[in-house]
Amino acid sequence: MSQQPVVLIGSGLAGYGVARELRKLNSEVPITMLSADHGGFYSKPMLSNAIATSKTPESILNSSATQMANQLHIAIRPNTRVSAIDSVQKVVMLENGESVSYDHLVLAIGADQIRIPLQGDGINELLTVNDLDDYRHFRFALAGKKQIAILGAGLIGCEFANDLVSAGYEVHVIDISTQPLGRLLPAEGGRFLQDKLTAIGIKFHLKTITQRIDRVGDRLNLSFDDETQLEVDLVLSAVGLRPRIQLAKAASIEVNRGIVTDRYLQTRASYIYALGDCAEVEGKVLPFVMPISHASRALAATLNGTPTMLRYPAMPVLVKTPACPTIVSPPDPDKGGEWRVDKTEDGIRALFQDITGNLLGFALLGDATKEKNALTPLLPPVLD
Ligand SMILES: Cc1cc2nc3c(=O)[nH]c(=O)nc-3n(C[C@H](O)[C@H](O)[C@H](O)COP(=O)(O)OP(=O)(O)OC[C@H]3O[C@@H](n4cnc5c(N)ncnc54)[C@H](O)[C@@H]3O)c2cc1C
Repeated sequence: MSQQPVVLIGSGLAGYGVARELRKLNSEVPITMLSADHGGFYSKPMLSNAIATSKTPESILNSSATQMANQLHIAIRPNTRVSAIDSVQKVVMLENGESVSYDHLVLAIGADQIRIPLQGDGINELLTVNDLDDYRHFRFALAGKKQIAILGAGLIGCEFANDLVSAGYEVHVIDISTQPLGRLLPAEGGRFLQDKLTAIGIKFHLKTITQRIDRVGDRLNLSFDDETQLEVDLVLSAVGLRPRIQLAKAASIEVNRGIVTDRYLQTRASYIYALGDCAEVEGKVLPFVMPISHASRALAATLNGTPTMLRYPAMPVLVKTPACPTIVSPPDPDKGGEWRVDKTEDGIRALFQDITGNLLGFALLGDATKEKNALTPLLPPVLD
């Protein structure tokens, strides 16, 4: 076996997923993890429901980089940013000028929060929470504040809104869409969720485009397209994610929306793989935990010498809005069908079916979420 290590770039759930799965299969293969951040292990989904329960960044961190290195018998280099990949020489270049050779290279470099173009002198005050350091900064910034505006009524925006209102803040959610979770729920589901979140105090500003953010003393003034304004203490942006593709693109590795891979998670470059939020597997970018677990297992087997094609079963996503329990399994946008929506006692059951009645997706809200276990086996796999 080659002496060069499997090099993993990134210490998120994808990087650690592969490290853990590969170690289970092979106790000998050298593994080196390079991470631009602290390199510790934590569960990122916790970040959007941690304020109400007063979780500190330290309490969210499961294990430091050193603890993980000892636990998994791998080399971890935290605070180490990779600046370039040479796929011919099989080396990566680090920002500090060093280079690291690899046998196989895994890109697990995640995604960036999208920043919408806005005018005004307050735009640099806009916060995002996409990792533990962002959460630390956000928590610090919240001290002494009362009114918060959240840009984006998608999954992460709604989760933060529920969390912050539960922690006693006044929360405004602004979105261009006509409903929360516009990409995941049919209209009736969006209305139900909006009503439940409104009932706990969240103020929605839908069909609204934010145009400017200006400073007014310590506060921020948002100007909307309908010429109304809103003054708040802090603005959180949660308008979506964009896979980090620059590193691959600069190395002439094919990218599209994400870093393009086949069903073996292999990029178009030999010995280089990608998974997690940065990857586009057979045209699908799925920035969620379950796809990462499946991809980590398949890739570890491949790296250990057993080429293993990735399969995704149906993977419903739980939306962490305690005021309105919600579970979604969005249908494949390429498949035709329509929503059949029923009101339950205190919820919504929305089933997306094709013309012959096959279930292709669902959205369950309120008490209908208890039907998840019965419905999930009826769904088609996401990648067969
Ligand atoms: C607030 C929030 C809540 C969420 N809730 C849920 C949920 O409830 N359910 C769910 O399924 N999903 C949820 N998600 C999505 C889920 O957390 C992500 O899909 C997952 O954590 C992504 O892991 P990753 O390893 O691909 O990327 P990341 O965790 O972003 O890791 C990327 C790593 O790459 C490193 N890196 C990047 N560039 C370089 C470089 N050039 N050199 C070296 N290192 C580099 C970074 O430092 C980082 O360590 C949530 C996401 C957020 C932000």
